[in-house]
Parts: sequence; C-alpha cells; structure tokens
Amino acid sequence: EEKKSLNFLEQIIEEDLANGLTKDKLHFRFPPEPNGYLHIGHAASICLNFGLGIKYNAPVNLRFDDTNPAKEEQEYVDAIKKDIQWLGFKWANEFYSSDYFQQLYDWSIQLINDGLAYVDNQSSEEMAIQKGTPTEVGTNSPNRDRSIEENLELFMKMKNGEFQEGSHVLRAKIDMEHVNMHMRDPIMYRILKKHHHRTGDDWCIYPMYDWTHGESDYIEQISHSICTLEFKSHRELYDWYVDQVYSGDDLRPKQREFARRNLSYTVMSKRKLLQLVQEGHVNGWDDPRMPTISGLRRRGYTPNSIKKFSEIAGISKRDNVTDVALLEFCIKDDLNKTAPRVMAVLNPVKVVITNYPEGKEEWLTAENNPEDDNAGNREVPFSKELYIEKEDFREEANKKFFRLKLGKEVRLKNAYIIKAESVVKDENGEVLEIHCTYDPLSRSGSGTEESQRRVKGTLHWVSIAHAIKTEVRLYDRLFIDEAPDSHKDKDFKEFINPNSLELNTNAFVEPSLKEASIGDRFQFQRLGYFCVDDDNTAEHLVFNRTVSLNDSWAK
Ligand code: ATP
Ligand code: MG
Ligand code: MG
Repeated sequence: EEKKSLNFLEQIIEEDLANGLTKDKLHFRFPPEPNGYLHIGHAASICLNFGLGIKYNAPVNLRFDDTNPAKEEQEYVDAIKKDIQWLGFKWANEFYSSDYFQQLYDWSIQLINDGLAYVDNQSSEEMAIQKGTPTEVGTNSPNRDRSIEENLELFMKMKNGEFQEGSHVLRAKIDMEHVNMHMRDPIMYRILKKHHHRTGDDWCIYPMYDWTHGESDYIEQISHSICTLEFKSHRELYDWYVDQVYSGDDLRPKQREFARRNLSYTVMSKRKLLQLVQEGHVNGWDDPRMPTISGLRRRGYTPNSIKKFSEIAGISKRDNVTDVALLEFCIKDDLNKTAPRVMAVLNPVKVVITNYPEGKEEWLTAENNPEDDNAGNREVPFSKELYIEKEDFREEANKKFFRLKLGKEVRLKNAYIIKAESVVKDENGEVLEIHCTYDPLSRSGSGTEESQRRVKGTLHWVSIAHAIKTEVRLYDRLFIDEAPDSHKDKDFKEFINPNSLELNTNAFVEPSLKEASIGDRFQFQRLGYFCVDDDNTAEHLVFNRTVSLNDSWAK
C-alpha cells in the first residue's frame, strides 16, 4: 500500500488511538443544513469525513442539521442525498437533528433545574448591548436570577406557543464576563412559528446550532466532529454543552476544525448561491456554471475528478483559496483517460473536394481513445462535401499557420491529405466554400507511402451529408473577478461575467453521436471535453462544454 503522510486530523485520530480510544469507537458524520444544494466546498468535507470512514473502517452518519425551518426544505434533503451518492459514498445512518428535539428539550429542562439556563424576555438589541465586546466584559441580564419555577413555567409557555416570535429566548447561564464571547450566556432556544419539513407544527421553539450540534454528536456517539475553522471559537461552548449531559462512561465527542475550501472565480456561500438562483443569474442550482455538485455534474465533471481535486487540494489549518485551474486540471486529466474522441465542428465552413466522386461515401476507421487500449474503433463517414472550422482556413497566412491555406496541404484526421485550391465568396467577401483536391492514396491507415507522408497540420471535420446539427453551450467563468465576494463596498453580483454562456445552435457532430445519452462525455477533438446536457432529446442534441483543451494535437 502507498505510504502517505498523515494530515493533521489523521494525526489527531492516531494520537487518540494511541491514548486508548479503541478503533471500534471511531465514528464520523457529515452534517449539512438542508437550506441549499451542496457545493464543491462541501465536497471537501464529504471526502474528508467519508474518507476517514473508509480509512478506519468506521461508520459515517449523514445528519441533516435541520433546526431552522425558515430556510430548510425537503427538496434540499433529496438533492443532498443524491449528490453524496453520486460521489460514491455510503452513509451508515441517515439522521436529523430534528430527531433529537424532544431529547434536547428534556435536557434543557434539566439545565433549568440545575440553575444553568434561564428565560430572557428582553429585546435582541438589549441583549446585544449587554453582551459587551471582545475587549469589554458583558453585563448580566436583569432576568438572569429568575427562580427555577418561573423559568420552567416561562419555558413551558414558550414551547406551548403562548409567546410571540422574538419575545422570549432560553439562555445558558455561563459567564457574561467570559473572554470567549460565545460563552456569554448564549441563546439555546428561540421561538419560530414556522412549519418544519419533518416535525410539522409540533414545535414552535427551535434549538440553536451550538446547543444542537454537540448534543447530536453525543447522542450519535461521534468520536471526531470535524467542522470548519469559523467554529474554532465555538469549541469551548461545544464542550460546555456536552459536559452538562455527559454520563461519564460513554464516548465524549470532540470537535476539531479545518479550513474551509474556497475556490477562485466563484462564491460558495449557500446564501449567495441562492441569490444567483432566485434572481435568475443562472438557471437553477444545477446550472453548469454553478460551483454546486449538481452544477458540476451537469457540466460534465466526474465523481473521480471531484474526489481527486479534494485529495490534491488537501486539508489545511489556515484559510486559503484554491485556484479553479486545479479543478479544471482534475477533470481534464480524468476525461483524457476515459472520454471517447469524436469529431465536431462548432463554426462550420464548407469544403468541397473537387476530385472526389459525386455521391460516393466511405466509412473510415477512427480510434476511439488513444489513451485507452480497450476503447476500440468506430467508423466515420467521408464524402465530397465537408465542414471544417472557419478558423482552420486562411487564404493567406505566415509559416506558423499550420492549418489550411490556399496552395497548401493538411491532413484531415482519420482521412486524406487535401490541398486548398480556390475559394467561393459572397458579395461581402466572406468565404462560402473552399475548393480542395485530395490525394486518393493518402488515406490514414492504408499503409501506402502517401499515407505516411508528413504534412504539418491535421484538422477535424465532419461530412455534411451525415453530420447532425447540434446545440452547444459554451461556458466560461461565472465571475470575472478572482474573489467576487471579497470587495468591501461592492456587491459580489457586480462581478458576474456577462458572457459566461455562449449559445451555439449551428454546430455539427459526427453521426455516431446520435445515440449519445444524457450525461455521456466526449472529447471533441481539438476543442475540449463536452457532455450531453439534460435538455438533450433524440431530435435536438444539446452538449455542454465541460472544459477546453489547452493543448491539442495540431493547432
Ligand atoms: P454555507 O456558508 O455555504 O452555507 P455551511 O457551513 O453553512 O456553508 P452546512 O450545510 O452547514 O453549510 O455544511 C455542512 C458541512 O460542510 C459542515 O461540516 C461545514 O463545516 C462543511 N462545509 C461547508 N462549507 C464548506 C467549505 N467551503 N469547505 C469545507 N467544508 C465546508
Ligand atoms: Mg452550517
Ligand atoms: Mg449556512
């Protein structure tokens, strides 16, 4: 087995194992809030947690952190499950924080009885002022010393819906002078009169993140609760809450933090992604320009490429930004090995082979994937009239132009050497047809001396009579700025790339693509990697450009 150095979280686990934690106690979780679709940042957390599960043969729970009914929906639950499965991971259990609402409530009663929680009915402004600042201690709420009986009665009324939203909260009674702001009597419950996607109208008080998360980890006996850096300062509160209910003889979970995955040229917060969707800047969460897992899938990314990306980018203790070029490298590298090569012409100009017999067609052999010995061959049709790319022809050009020019030769991939003889133009001088001759003895693979003849350029092409007209969607970055949400006085949407989608409805592909189905991925030779879009039908083919090629066999 390959020896790799351990990342810092694996080191923590190894130390815990060395200090007596038994392997069978290892248990991880991935805890998404179902308030949006998963993005490439979540993929880092998924690959990390499920990766640890695989490495240590330990269970990984999928836990929906569903404590805010105002923002959470079943649609998001379903999308999250689909995306994790698509990435190829299996959770041991599907749990919901809302499964623990009753337990959390019971524990809150216990905290009140222990004099460790109280109901506060001040305004949020008053409480914020009392909280103090990092450099100035807070002051106690006038409600801090309510009697246990009064707290129990008020909390019961909160639960029974007798108070209005925002009028009362339950707070932990810790220390208003604590150096850690999170420890200054944090809110445990707030009133929200909202329908919950799972518990319906059973509850109108909902537990806060901190109160929920550690206790859920404890209930599930999660050994290592891995979250992102912004929760580091919450760790003390996490521990405090767990300690209030810890029995002393089972597993006490621990929270550890790693740096969020950020990616250049995009935004990753679900709130901002939701804005892009709701305001119509993109066509839904799975728009191929989105950094969501579903967007990347529709764009043509493979699960392997995303896992590889997470592995190479690694995990870090400090905030950083990963270059989107690394993600693009990972998909190119994967598709280079796996995607069948085909020919497509995106900006066609007509070529007429004047010495090729009228009405004749030949089926020429083409290699499906030179990187894959098992990929085999296919037949592509050749005839008198072809399309090539407009940009592959110039009437005149200097010596560095290795494509087709008047009086010069190029090879047509898998076919013949042709020579451009003359052009037909319209009244504006635009080239309508390029008249060429071909060398009948030069057919690729025919073994003749002429077939071995070296010419500088090789072009892709399609036979007009056989080609299928296709829609191609060419995507570019969604933002023109490397860090669109880093600007102090500007909204991130000011940096949206107005040309992030170029629609091409006049592209042509070779006829083998007639049978392609949604999600299939190809290399359009010399152009890039493309996949069949969800909008594809047998009558109307639609391809998405996943990523361009930066190098090609004959530019
Ligand atoms: P967002 O700000 O995008 O809404 P979030 O942290 O609120 O992110 P959650 O659904 O709560 O989203 O995240 C589920 C898990 O994924 C958490 O453990 C969280 O720390 C982790 N996670 C979220 N975003 C990233 C990211 N960019 N990089 C790494 N892990 C992330
Ligand atoms: Mg969260
Ligand atoms: Mg969030």
